[in-house]
Amino acid sequence: MAKKQFKSESKRLLDLMVNSIYTHKEIFLRELISNASDAIDKLCYISLTDDKVGLSREDFKITIKADKENRTLTISDNGVGMTAKELEANLGVIAKSGSLQFKQDMEDKPEDIDIIGQFGVGFYSAFMVASRVTVTSRAYGEDGANKWVSEGSDGYTLEPFECPHEGAGTEIVIELKEDVEDEKYSDYLAEHKLQSLIKKYSDYVHWPIFMDVTKSRQVETDELDDDGNKKKTWEDYTETDVINSRIPIWQRPKSEVTDEDCAEFYKEKFFDHTEPTTVIRVSAEGLVSYQAMLFIPAAQPYDYFSREYKAGLQLYSSGIMIMEHCADLLPEHFRFVRGIVESPDFSLNISREMLQHDRQLKVIATNIEKKVKAELKKLMDEDIEKYETFYKAFGIQLKYGIANGFGMNRDMLADLIMFYSSKAGKLIPLTEYVKNMPEEQKYIYYASGDNAALLDKLPQAEQVREKGYEIFYLTEEIDEFVIRMLRNFEEKEFRSVNDEELGLESDEDKKETERQETENKDLLEFVKESLDGKIASARLSQKLKSHPCCLAAQGEISLEMEKYFKAMQGRQEGMPGDMRAERVLELNAGHSSFAALKSAFESDKEKAAKYAKVLYGQALLMASVPLEDPAEFSSLVGELLFG
Ligand code: ADP
Repeated sequence: MAKKQFKSESKRLLDLMVNSIYTHKEIFLRELISNASDAIDKLCYISLTDDKVGLSREDFKITIKADKENRTLTISDNGVGMTAKELEANLGVIAKSGSLQFKQDMEDKPEDIDIIGQFGVGFYSAFMVASRVTVTSRAYGEDGANKWVSEGSDGYTLEPFECPHEGAGTEIVIELKEDVEDEKYSDYLAEHKLQSLIKKYSDYVHWPIFMDVTKSRQVETDELDDDGNKKKTWEDYTETDVINSRIPIWQRPKSEVTDEDCAEFYKEKFFDHTEPTTVIRVSAEGLVSYQAMLFIPAAQPYDYFSREYKAGLQLYSSGIMIMEHCADLLPEHFRFVRGIVESPDFSLNISREMLQHDRQLKVIATNIEKKVKAELKKLMDEDIEKYETFYKAFGIQLKYGIANGFGMNRDMLADLIMFYSSKAGKLIPLTEYVKNMPEEQKYIYYASGDNAALLDKLPQAEQVREKGYEIFYLTEEIDEFVIRMLRNFEEKEFRSVNDEELGLESDEDKKETERQETENKDLLEFVKESLDGKIASARLSQKLKSHPCCLAAQGEISLEMEKYFKAMQGRQEGMPGDMRAERVLELNAGHSSFAALKSAFESDKEKAAKYAKVLYGQALLMASVPLEDPAEFSSLVGELLFG
């Protein structure tokens, strides 16, 4: 019989699919089951008004059969079937809904074969695993049946077929390709593989999916044991079972599903052995109808910050998973959320492009963002310990959300942020800091550094500490960027303890400092000059109590940011090289070191310059900034101490 040719577009798609990577190939089963389910939907619908169908709801089913000897896998349904014309029209060409877009996507980035794993590509996916596909079908209301056979892109045959059984329906026989080194197609004949694929992709198809499964039972033998009873032994037998659970957990009423059930489901579905922090259930009806079951994990997946981690929610439509990672449903700052969203309005063959422009999807995404935010806030208010666990795993993600969004996500995220409190000795929410503030306290104080223990001793924080005010210790690289983006919280401005103006000095104190600075103008200028361009200025500070000096910065870039940029430069190219903080050396006029400096300045300028260098070195050390010339510093200290 003469072979008919596929349309060229279909041919190209076929070639792409056949060459797709192995792990994506398994979706062929989902596609065929979903077609079978649709066909049953159609006939079931007809049966509502047409008695001639002769089937009731309970009679409809999908059957999967594996034949190891012949290497075939058969998927059959008693749905609406196809006429010869339909077989030709439906299976001879791919020119439906998503396929055109699909083709364009492929042309844009032909290397991105992943697209096949993401979207329904329908019947053709069978050729990813098949050397030959045979479809026999009888359309509802027709006497004859037809047989369609194809071995792939070189075309297909279509002829009438003597169907051995009555009734409408379709049977698809897949002859699996020969196994090759890294692609074992015969896996698809293994009972447990098929079961797990059905569970994974089609668990919630509402029609039953039957399959023969091997079971064991105890049977009596003719042998007798010591007591004269018949001995028992185990024997395997085959039973046809329904594999899919049919009613998804997220569709069951809340009253029927416990939190434990949800947690179990989460662990199994998302391969996490840690209990989720919390589960969020949504059942929305109205303009946009959808159901969602969302989980906030408690532990960071090991690959969370790697390319391997795929964010996104699973998308279901009428019980069928249509996308495993729909990233458009989650904002970047909540990318740790896992879960499922089902809406009858999603189409099966929807493409990524189309999804991005889908209005409904946007509405759902906005709702989901609000729900997640509300749930996290609730957790913070009601169970801070649990929130802490969550925050240790994903707080950094929230911070990135603020820092990367250039303030865009400020309102959404600010009240979820926690920093380490100098007083509490642990992370506390911004809201709590503000609540604890005494009335006269003007600013939210923070200090940046490597760790809390070092920050506890930071000289420039002495004055704030003495006042009894709480300080946020920022120890993560991102923290200062977060503060910059936030600028303030509940109308309280953030202030670094490095800042010149800490709002702690009385007018009198200020005047006194000014007076001293004028008095020591020449000395301060001398210090700056002795340091040979290393500092932008030297000044007197009220912040210091027991310490002789400290390092501060003026302008936009803080010392911590300078460190961060330096580290980034090492890691990636194209980072600005001149991100250097403008250093300020602050001196304590009440300290004996200042008196020594001053008297040297008057009698021995060379010695005074040495003092200035040592003080600068001390300030660097206390700020955890490496000395530029440790050998010089060491010999200077030696000279001054031991002569
Ligand atoms: P899609 O399902 O997205 O339309 P497919 O390539 O999977 O694309 O299928 C093409 C068409 O073939 C379907 O729309 C349907 O009309 C028909 N079809 C496929 N499988 C079956 C089946 N088992 N029973 C009846 N019709 C089917």
